[in-house]
Amino acid sequence: MSTHHDPAGLGSLVTEVSRSFDVPITTANLPVYRASSVFFDTLEEAWSTGARAVAGERHASTYATAGTPTTFALMDALAAIEGQGHDCRAALMPSGLTAIAAALLAVLKTGDHVLMPDSVYGPARTLCGTLLARMGVSTTFYDPALDADAVAALMQPTTRVLYLESPGSYTFEIQDVPALCALARSRGVVTMIDNAWASPMFARPFDWGVDMSLLPLTKYWSGHADVLMGAVVAREALWPALHGAVRQMGLCVGGDDAFLILRGLRTAAVRMRHHQASALAVARWLQARPEVARVLHPALPSHPGHALWQRDFTGSSGLFSFELRPGMADTPGKLAALVERRRFYRIGYSWGGYESLIMPARLSGARSVQPWEGGPLIRLHVGLEDTNDLIADLAAGLDAMRAAA
Ligand SMILES: *Cc1c(COP(=O)(O)O)cnc(C)c1O
Repeated sequence: MSTHHDPAGLGSLVTEVSRSFDVPITTANLPVYRASSVFFDTLEEAWSTGARAVAGERHASTYATAGTPTTFALMDALAAIEGQGHDCRAALMPSGLTAIAAALLAVLKTGDHVLMPDSVYGPARTLCGTLLARMGVSTTFYDPALDADAVAALMQPTTRVLYLESPGSYTFEIQDVPALCALARSRGVVTMIDNAWASPMFARPFDWGVDMSLLPLTKYWSGHADVLMGAVVAREALWPALHGAVRQMGLCVGGDDAFLILRGLRTAAVRMRHHQASALAVARWLQARPEVARVLHPALPSHPGHALWQRDFTGSSGLFSFELRPGMADTPGKLAALVERRRFYRIGYSWGGYESLIMPARLSGARSVQPWEGGPLIRLHVGLEDTNDLIADLAAGLDAMRAAA
């Protein structure tokens, strides 16, 4: 299969997986299957297909919850793109958060222990303190800057999952994922990574040694802010557990949504290159502004995780944060003046689309190991608009902030 760094390669991969199904005419895209019931000509066919579907065999379906050609094509594409030549399978989920929950529920049982980075995506933190706690699963949050020896010291005999997210949500810490995965493997602990930020364009989690990669397809894979979906890509050895969780909970997606992700994939690499270049230009411009204390972007040499980022990633996406100097936005009016009524930046959470977003972080309660002690933190998603327009819009916001009461 083609490599994901080549946009033409991604587009033809989608064609390749689409054309692996037998349909009467040849077009670039498969027809979109909208389905619930799946029909059989014979009882023997129904029952043998059922046995194959229960076993989690590729493309076996007795009911559209298990899959249709549209969703199977997307699963195959994701396993190839994220798996990067490793033996992987993909399961589709109705959202990125469902992917996180399903992966954890697939491998955890009562009495198990999970290690979670302190910078984890907020709703994943909530999941640990609620559903997982109720199941009798305990969680220890760890500083994402810890090295493998320090994380080893936090492991308990019951530790089952070492969860990773790199860079971390809002604060963008880079973890030493290969070293942490080697540690986990030596202890028989399953590793999962939330690969939202880099997407497979700029990260190769299975080369780093992770067992499961959790993908919010809602973000860069869709790229157009018009669909919610997630996926878990797992090494073949974990497929029975993941497939079991999918069947037990009836996790599935519709054909129209799956088609939108397949369509987004065709342009993902070119979009990512634009997000990367434009975000870096905005980040460098912000670094020179007097209102800004520091810019938290792993591709900047000033970032504490820059060396690790350089070693492990092949690029950077459109999402980063900047910290304002103390006193710069010490009233709600100043913060509002910065982010409201911008021409291009909208106030919003779900990044990864064509559009630029600006969102102040609310980190109180969101960190338990290292409470945030810096100035106000603003997260930007740099979209596909003109870079100079985006810089001018931010300049206007910073000016408005200084003028506001
Ligand atoms: C958005 C996001 C998710 C969840 O994706 P949804 O499809 O919105 O549920 C998971 N992890 C990270 C880091 C995210 O930013």
